[in-house]
Amino acid sequence: MKKERTLVLIKPDGVQRSLIGEIIKRYERSGLKLAGMKMVVSTAEHIEKHYTVDPEWRRITGEKTIKSYKDKGLQPPSEDPLVITDILLGNLKKYMASGPVIAMVWQGVHAVKIVRKITGGTEPLTSDVGTIRGDFVLDSYQLSDADGRAVRNLIHASGSVDEAEKEISLWFKPEEIINYRLVQEQILYDVNLDGILE
Ligand code: GDP
Ligand code: MG
Repeated sequence: MKKERTLVLIKPDGVQRSLIGEIIKRYERSGLKLAGMKMVVSTAEHIEKHYTVDPEWRRITGEKTIKSYKDKGLQPPSEDPLVITDILLGNLKKYMASGPVIAMVWQGVHAVKIVRKITGGTEPLTSDVGTIRGDFVLDSYQLSDADGRAVRNLIHASGSVDEAEKEISLWFKPEEIINYRLVQEQILYDVNLDGILE
């Protein structure tokens, strides 16, 4: 459990807005351990692989997006979830390959859920105050759809342990992930906390 890993990408807008340090700080101070990090310029092909590591992602995201249009009383551009996701994916490829991204692997107990909590909900308009997306960005689906682009939400974070494993192997070679001990792990995880008092 203490070795759970998750993938975080600081998307091109996060790099351009000089938020790399601020974003890393938020994950780092939680107690999670940075196990790998690099700056890369991605390709459309790689981004398509990234979003489709879960074979159900196209259907689920398409259905979710159609529902969110209808909940707002809007007509979706298509009733076919796969057509909707094709549009999303086209926009995501342009967005994610537009400049350098920072790819990171964070490790620790409940890494996937802790990172999602710190990151905040997908749409910045409704993500909670105190989360990275809630604090640093003001985009919405309404604006990004009207402009025919992906919503700019600074970060990608894996949605489940299974998704994390697949995404990490897509972005990192095994030797790029470092196994090491962090001294603070003793206070985070040690059962007896002995060796502190003199
Ligand atoms: P995440 O894991 O929080 O990034 O969210 P998802 O995996 O559900 O979606 C991935 C990406 O698809 C998001 O970052 C958005 O760019 C896009 N997306 C997801 N849902 C919607 C939606 O309802 N409307 C629009 N316009 N884009 C969406
Ligand atoms: Mg996701």
